[in-house]
Amino acid sequence: MSVRNGDLAEKWYEYVYREQSDSVSRFVEQFPDERALSVSCNRFGHDYQFVRPLLTNPDAVLQAGRAALRRFTSQSSDELDSVYLRISDLPAQSEVSFEELRADHLNELHTFSGAVVATEPVRPKVVTAAFRCAKCERVTRRDAQPGRTFRDHAKCPRCSSVGYLSFAPEDSDYVDAQLVELRDSDEQMQSDTDAVPVLLEHDLAGSVSVGETVRLAGIPRANRAAESTVADFWVESVSMENLTATNQ
Ligand SMILES: [Zn+2]
Repeated sequence: MSVRNGDLAEKWYEYVYREQSDSVSRFVEQFPDERALSVSCNRFGHDYQFVRPLLTNPDAVLQAGRAALRRFTSQSSDELDSVYLRISDLPAQSEVSFEELRADHLNELHTFSGAVVATEPVRPKVVTAAFRCAKCERVTRRDAQPGRTFRDHAKCPRCSSVGYLSFAPEDSDYVDAQLVELRDSDEQMQSDTDAVPVLLEHDLAGSVSVGETVRLAGIPRANRAAESTVADFWVESVSMENLTATNQ
């Protein structure tokens, strides 16, 4: 990607944060009680130097958006890494059906229209993990944990010992999370497509019921399944609109 992360952070500031700096400051002050910030993609206009990487490399662009929030706080706040930037109104080229979803789409940002066919219970998910060092006898590391895969660490950043660091559940932060299954809502496609698991976090968890239709912006993810080369597969939600609730 030719656009540098610093440029992306500058564009976030220019297009989204500068004009509403009072409300963004308030949001940052209220973090972590407030964790989700809604952003319409229309704010980025036709700047394809921004929108193209947003669609093809959303992890870097969302990370730049979180980094740009640090301008609004004096504290050194790596924890802003766990802010949810809920981008909606993506351009039409981002749309894909669940049936058409292939390996090429992994780790890109796409828009789906789907019907909810199953929901699992809402459960807590680690969003910022604390790690305690057995040598230092204190928490020496706190790390944002996006998505479903836990990022472990072996080395203590304070004393550089390896193998003394362990996850400290009682010092970690949690959000609500829920897996739901979606299927294309278009009736013609409904016949034999499999439902796709979607991970909903924080304010999105518990917000939909079976039978409702939604518009989802999300990032298809895969992780190696145990002893298999065929991966586990799901969509990580970025934003979601409940179309059934809107129509009522
Ligand atoms: Zn240590």
